[in-house]
Amino acid sequence: MKPEQLLHPTPKGLYCPIGDFYVDPVRPVERALITHGHADHARAGHTQVLATRQTLDIMAIRYGADFCVSEQAAGWGEVIDVGGGSVSFFPAGHVLGSAQILIEKDGLKIVVSGDYKRGEDPTCAPFEPVKCDVFITEATFGLPVFHHPDPKDETRKLLTSLKQFPERSHLVGAYSLGKAQRVIRLIRDCGYDAPIYIHGALAKLCDYYVGQGIALGELRPATIEKSKPEIFRGAVIVGPPSAFADRWARRFNEPLISFASGWMMVRQRAKQGGVELPLVISDHCDWPELLDTIREIAPSEVWVTHGREEALVRWCELQGIAAKPLHLVGYEDEGD
Ligand SMILES: [Zn+2]
Repeated sequence: MKPEQLLHPTPKGLYCPIGDFYVDPVRPVERALITHGHADHARAGHTQVLATRQTLDIMAIRYGADFCVSEQAAGWGEVIDVGGGSVSFFPAGHVLGSAQILIEKDGLKIVVSGDYKRGEDPTCAPFEPVKCDVFITEATFGLPVFHHPDPKDETRKLLTSLKQFPERSHLVGAYSLGKAQRVIRLIRDCGYDAPIYIHGALAKLCDYYVGQGIALGELRPATIEKSKPEIFRGAVIVGPPSAFADRWARRFNEPLISFASGWMMVRQRAKQGGVELPLVISDHCDWPELLDTIREIAPSEVWVTHGREEALVRWCELQGIAAKPLHLVGYEDEGD
């Protein structure tokens, strides 16, 4: 069988005709397999959804319990028959519950890795390399210029700034699923144990992470109406980046705007966003991690999606690995 007969791109997303399912479909479908809870991958309105327990829980938190008609939870490595083939889920190391999906039929193995990273992250299970014939990789940071620094070194910049500017409220922008909890955990792991204030949009997901055994220390709501602005002097406040353009941010004492994202490597982006303290903390692979992963898995074919597809395709070809871009549309990661 050709790999394209087992899985191929369609306008709704990657489709497996043998199992009659889509992976991370961008439109409502009968049967969807979901890699992780970010909004561009996990959408509401499918009939049946198969995902990890944590991804299903995260979808229910974000969209309500009726986000699909029926759900099925996949345990790590559990082989599940779907139509004429089988699927199994393996950790992707991207956010809590994030999975790569192995699709198998007559010995042919295709892995859809979704979004993934290789760096240390105590807020989710680490990426597990899975041997396969076709490895489908993201390429969000798929250019040689992208090297992500040590996230703890980035976090220490925030702690240094707190010492330098003890009067200022330090507002850290971080996407609400994954990045916010990871940044809070990094701040804790760098030795900061004062309460951290969080925007209301993060509360339910932070509670869920804590319930899953990920310690985040003392979190308090950053509701300025009910408290005196002075209490936020020298405090760390974490919120979604969208809130920072809001009046909400300007109520704090001499706010110092920080933003945790892989894109903070691009100085222009930080400047445009009015970010005074950019923190390069990414939940995606950088260029060396992409190459190391492909070398380690050693697939016979690589399919590249969302991001800078051409550079990675070219690199694979130079290594003698067949590769092609998938040109899937509708994936703009909310958790970069
Ligand atoms: Zn993602």
